This record gives sequence, C-alpha cells and structure tokens, in this order.
Amino acid sequence: MLFASVSAAGYAPIATRRAITSSSSLALMALLTIGHMSYAQEPAQVLAKPAVQQAMQVIKSSEPHFIDEQIRICEIAAPPFHEDKRAEELAKLFKAAGLENVRIDKAGNVLGDRPGAEAHPHLVMAAHLDTVFPEGTDVHVTRTGNLLKGPGIGDDCRGLAALLAVIHGMNETKLKTKGSVTFVADTGEEGQGDLRGTKELFNTTLKGEIDEFISIEPGGVDDVTNGGVGSYRYKVTFTGPGGHSYGAFGLANPIGALGRAVAHIDAIQVPTSPKVTFNEGTVGGGTSVNSIPFEAWFEFDERSPDIKALDEMDAKFKAAVQQGLDDENARWHDKGKLSVKIEPIGIRPAGHTEESAAIVQIATQSISALGIGKARYGAGSSDSNVPMHLGIPAITIGGGGKDAGAHSLNETIDVTDSYKGPQNALLILLSLLQ
Ligand SMILES: [Zn+2]
Repeated sequence: MLFASVSAAGYAPIATRRAITSSSSLALMALLTIGHMSYAQEPAQVLAKPAVQQAMQVIKSSEPHFIDEQIRICEIAAPPFHEDKRAEELAKLFKAAGLENVRIDKAGNVLGDRPGAEAHPHLVMAAHLDTVFPEGTDVHVTRTGNLLKGPGIGDDCRGLAALLAVIHGMNETKLKTKGSVTFVADTGEEGQGDLRGTKELFNTTLKGEIDEFISIEPGGVDDVTNGGVGSYRYKVTFTGPGGHSYGAFGLANPIGALGRAVAHIDAIQVPTSPKVTFNEGTVGGGTSVNSIPFEAWFEFDERSPDIKALDEMDAKFKAAVQQGLDDENARWHDKGKLSVKIEPIGIRPAGHTEESAAIVQIATQSISALGIGKARYGAGSSDSNVPMHLGIPAITIGGGGKDAGAHSLNETIDVTDSYKGPQNALLILLSLLQ
C-alpha cells in the first residue's frame, strides 16, 4: 500500500531535482527517493521559503488565541467513551478553519481534509479528544501567567490546540502542498479507550489510504516518539463446580488454580532489552470463607516495544495459565475438573518506525532547523502504535510548552514559547508533502 502510487505520482525522485549539500542530506535523499517520500524536501529549505516564514509568524502571533482555545476546549468534558461534545466543537472549528469534508466517523473521530495537488502522499495529523477523567470531574482550567492548570490541559488539549494552530497557519498564508493532509481529532486514545479511534481510522474510515501519521501529544518539542510500546491485557477466569468447604472437600479449587498460575507466571524470565514487563493487577473471586469457590479471576498486563518479544511473553503467559490449571486439576483429580477462560480486555499493538525512516529524519531536521535543539527519540504508547504496527511510518511529537502531572487532577502546562510546537508540526507536514 505504501508504495502503491509511486509511479503514478509523476514527480521525479528528489535526488535528481536538487543538489546534494551534505553527508546527512545524502542519507536523507537516499530515503526521499523511496516511494511517496519522493515529494519530501529538507525542512531547512522549506523553512527558507517566504510563504513558510510568513506561516511561522502567523503561528507565533496567533498563539495567545490558541492558548485561549486550548483552555476553552479543555473545559468541555471528554471522559472515556463520551468525547461527543468536544468532538462537535472540534468539527465546528475544523469547518470554520476552512477544512473540507469535515465529518465524524463511527468511532467518533472528527476528520477534516486539506487536499493537495495529489491524493498521495496522504498524511494524517492527529491529536486525541479523550481524557482519563471520569464523568463529573471538575474540568475548570485556572491560569496563572503562563501556567495553565486543569485535568487534560496538556494531555491532549495541547495537541488539539496545536492542530488548530497548524491549520490556521496554513490557511492564513494559503500554503499549498503536493500531497494531501487529513486532520483528525480522535477518540479512545487513553487506557480504557484502547486506541479505538485510531483503530477505526486505519481499519475502516481511511483504510488503505494513509501513507504517514503524526500524532501530537504534550511533551517537549524536541521529542520524537518513534517506538510504540505494545500491551496485551487479559482477564483470566478459572471456573469449577464449587461446593461446601467441608462436605465437598476434594474438589479442585479455582483460587488454587489461580495461585498456581500466578506462581508459574512470576517464574518467567524476561529480557531487559528489549524491555518486557508483566503484572497481575487485580484479583477477585470466591463467595464465602466456607465455600469452595466456583470462580476466581485476575487481570493481567504485559508490555514491550518489541512485538516479537511481546508475543514470546504472551505465549509463556498462556502456557503458565494452562499449567496452573493442569496442576490444580491433577492435584484434585477424582472430582469435577476446572476450566479457564483468557479474555482479551485491551490490545495495544507494538510497533516501531526506524530512525532512518524519512518521517523521523524530517522531524529531526525540522527540530534543528527551527533552533529547538537536538531530537530525542523514544518509545511510548499512543495513537501512533496502530500505524507503526501496520508498518505505516508514524511518529508522535510534542505540542509545545512544558507539561507536568498528566493523568492527574493537578495537571499543568507552562505555555511559554508553546508556539514552537505547532511551528514544528507545520514544518514537518510541509517538508513531507512538498
Ligand atoms: Zn495523550
């Protein structure tokens, strides 16, 4: 899919269009000749264009307005699975900003297009609507100078504000691109949401159409998250006939099986590189102290940025659960057998965008061209996990400002120089799509 319309694009590979200026350019150009990347230009060259300079100025001078918008949007509650009100507001703002075909898909994602001369490369730039805070949370934002405080003010109201600032910067200066971009305010990024917005986007809404993906989250503008930490989450339930603790003694016990399974899991040795983690997070079951329970369960989480390592852990975990069950059934072999059910309750796919990928290199050069500093690569769990897992180049970048206390009621963001977030996002976008 990624290379599908290369020849149809009709643009010469960049290496034939431009002089090679440095060894890092050489490396970049080798990349830029691949597939759709043949459109891309180096950020420093893109930044030198008068129209782009003007767009950067527009972003800087309109930042106070977008900080106000960040606050206003954040005071529209968006608890898990109830992002609709905030989504409606974003749809209005997308329309007012001149995006085309503004629509809300089945998962509640808000989409708006800014077509280029060609349909491809097609970039999606996204920020998430949802928060971790339950319905009824006081979402009032307070402001002291440059410090904003309120639930979700950084994560991800900053991303939404940055998205709007990028759209505004492009529109005010009538910037044209060769490739196309769809801006998305997506749902379900946080824990329980299980990336449902992005999964819908890639698996249904824009299936097969997206070539590159950038998500904007709170974080330093020098952050380039190119690794997606995957996680598998399960509820494991052991069941059996249950009975009286005295009268039915001899029955296999679901809590016994659970204990044996957990002991087997805890004996699993995991690598530190790539990092693999596992955790039994909650446990429950039983009816009374004098009953052999008919049910016992626990919830389990395992993570790794490396999909192979995660899958290996997953196989060992499942074998350990089966072993716990078999041990318990063997111990009490003469009466009714137990069974076990392993139910997935959350799957965040792991993935990785190579440091050598054009999208990572362009982000790196954009950060340096804007004088922000040196890019820092890292791994995280965000909307980018979905495209990374599908092999679609994706990164998560910082929206600007300095955030603290994400996912807590004391979340803050210092918006000093926060305009650098949308400036960087725009420069990356333009460099990828020129
Ligand atoms: Zn977030």
